[in-house]
Amino acid sequence: MTAIEILKKLKEKGVRFTPQRQAILEFLLGTDTHPTAEEIYHHVKAKFPGVSLGTIYNTLNMLKEHGHIMELSYGDMCSRFDGNPKNHYHVACTDCGRIVDLHSPLLDLEQEVGEKTGFLVQGHRLEFYGVCPECSTHKRAKMN
Ligand code: ZN
Ligand code: MN
Repeated sequence: MTAIEILKKLKEKGVRFTPQRQAILEFLLGTDTHPTAEEIYHHVKAKFPGVSLGTIYNTLNMLKEHGHIMELSYGDMCSRFDGNPKNHYHVACTDCGRIVDLHSPLLDLEQEVGEKTGFLVQGHRLEFYGVCPECSTHKRAKMN
């Protein structure tokens, strides 16, 4: 969905949108870096110096509750936010924390899991982690 479509849907539900909130949404839809709330704050602040971190969190929570964005949590690391709310896989770098989209189809396991366990399976999560190309280059450089 585009920002305009999301704004329209939320307006129908009576959600008020300020230019700041719109900037948060547009930034998230236009990036695949999975930014933290702090990073979103710094980006939006450049255009709207009056924006508060509270506005960032309120807006992210609202967008999440309505299913337009995803929050990715990784243990005690800061949450990351994803403008693509459809299930997809990520690879996380254990050195620098970078999170990259994996453009692969979802594993077709839910029916099998349902059959084996008797659960009505509604979804699944799968996380990959390792060292990103930049970090492994740095590591190699340090060893030489
Ligand atoms: Zn890395
Ligand atoms: Mn993603």
